[in-house]
Amino acid sequence: MESIVVTGAAGFIGSHLCEFLLGKGNKVIGIDNFATGRMENIEQFFSNENFKFIEHDITKEIALKENIDKIFNLASLASPVFYQKNSFETLLVNSIGTINALELARKKDAIFLQASTSEVYGDPKEHPQKETYYGNVNTVGLRSCYDEGKRFSETAVMEFSKKYGFEARIARIFNTYGPKMRSDDGRVIPNFIMQALHNKPITVYGTGSQTRSFCYISDQVAGLIALMNSSYSMPVNIGNPEEITILHLAEKIKSLTNSQSPIEFRELPEDDPLKRKADISLAMEKLGWKPKVKLEEGLKKTIEWFKARK
Ligand code: UDP
Repeated sequence: MESIVVTGAAGFIGSHLCEFLLGKGNKVIGIDNFATGRMENIEQFFSNENFKFIEHDITKEIALKENIDKIFNLASLASPVFYQKNSFETLLVNSIGTINALELARKKDAIFLQASTSEVYGDPKEHPQKETYYGNVNTVGLRSCYDEGKRFSETAVMEFSKKYGFEARIARIFNTYGPKMRSDDGRVIPNFIMQALHNKPITVYGTGSQTRSFCYISDQVAGLIALMNSSYSMPVNIGNPEEITILHLAEKIKSLTNSQSPIEFRELPEDDPLKRKADISLAMEKLGWKPKVKLEEGLKKTIEWFKARK
């Protein structure tokens, strides 16, 4: 049994990760300030004596008495709609917040995993994106608070772990979806599912020719665990390489929900990456991990979850 800290524990990925870690019999200390995380995501863990929750904003010092073996630093706003509304908080949690989480790792000599993002590649000129690509990021655009915040976090992890000699991992998380996403989250899969279930227009931004590759949550959690348990200390893409256009995604969700919704086209937001697809050769080689859940299967499970709550 290990003692593991998860920051962002009440968030979408964080709460699934806590569930997995508790299921393996670990002690989990979850930290969240409910910026976008929700109590309902973690309520079910409170009856487990191995779960401890601390409501805390990690831009303030994180002081813990317990011995800690591992830290997953997942705290951050992650939906473009939320992080653009709260750009300053996003910048701070990924910079000062990451430094505070790293300070905790240094004091406890814990292995540290940073949740980074495919957004470090910006609007990529290389396709699919490999970890060796340095990215094409606007430093002063609508997405910069998140993209540059995460880029800073990667640098901080490298510098801290080198200087103080503890082990660290960096996961570049590509678009991930599944149950427990917020219906008001603004990201494409919850938006399209909610719109389709209510027979409201499905809002495709731009022409819908932009692409993403979507990873189901159980695969994402398995990837993060495999990375943490590996001995690889450079950034690794964790995502599903199955690429789809946003228009095709809209049609797929419409058909899976038997919806009457019309598809409507809206203005493409500024700096919206045109293409994104994870190259996961490194993850396959170093972690022996690859995603198992096909898009259609994952969408069906996610639709069921939203349907029960619409
Ligand atoms: N998108 C869309 N309609 C929506 C929400 C998003 O067409 O209602 C598009 C968005 O412009 C982007 C893609 O879907 O091209 C993925 O957007 P999301 O916000 O989920 O994440 P991103 O990958 O852009 O961070």
